[in-house]
Amino acid sequence: MKSAEIQVVGVRGLPLIRAGDDLPALICERVAFEDGDILCIASSVYSKAKGLTRDLSSVTPGERAERIAANAHEDPRFVQAVLDASADLLLEHPFILSVLPCGHIGVRAGVDHSNIEGDRVILLPPDPMAAADEVRASIREISGKDVRVIITDTCGRSFRRGQTGIAVGWSGMPAINDYRGDTDLFGHVLQITEEAVVDEIAAFANFVMGESDQGVPAVVFRNCGTWEGHDTIYFTPDEDIVRSALKSIEKS
Ligand code: GDP
Ligand code: MN
Ligand code: MN
Repeated sequence: MKSAEIQVVGVRGLPLIRAGDDLPALICERVAFEDGDILCIASSVYSKAKGLTRDLSSVTPGERAERIAANAHEDPRFVQAVLDASADLLLEHPFILSVLPCGHIGVRAGVDHSNIEGDRVILLPPDPMAAADEVRASIREISGKDVRVIITDTCGRSFRRGQTGIAVGWSGMPAINDYRGDTDLFGHVLQITEEAVVDEIAAFANFVMGESDQGVPAVVFRNCGTWEGHDTIYFTPDEDIVRSALKSIEKS
């Protein structure tokens, strides 16, 4: 294999993560990092390590949570945890679609009831960009290597069935490879193409992780190269026609 071929390796043998665990240290015990590697970490384990979880027995649902829960046959305490994590809702029904304070839009605010014990739920990190920066700095401190980091989550999408991994936070690389102005094989100048590279890498990492009891919450990519672009991955509310359409359904 040429040295430039991309390599993808799941990080195996990590324990069940608990609040207070030093996740970067646990990963560095299992991976010999090289400069430029991209480390993808499932948001679920990042959040468990940081104690970003809630016990539903300590959540008291309000009136809105009770109402949404009754329509959706959900646990009102779970719905309250989702409302608490949301800056705004685009839909209440047939599923709760939340806008998070960090700009991410996701079903049930990305609050997870899987891969955690008992009645606890896992929240997304409130500032996932800062989370990725912090993991990157810790890896650099422990290993001396300049590693890029993506915090991933499994997320549904519009138009198609099935969930894929997406990047909720990243550090050390631009989210988007901006191809505008490049020429194609026939000399046409690309006008539109902005490739969301962090999401593509997150999706493949998510495939390697699996969704249930695989126990692989981190994946390392080697030889991905670098790209230039920008981090403006979220449409502004004005640009986002799907968001506007959902808002108008919700109001009608
Ligand atoms: P999410 O996509 O960020 O919501 O995370 P998932 O719950 O889908 O988990 C992704 C991967 O991490 C799966 O392989 C899980 O089995 C694994 N995983 C989740 N929690 C832990 C943990 O505490 N320890 C280990 N070793 N793996 C975990
Ligand atoms: Mn999740
Ligand atoms: Mn997942």
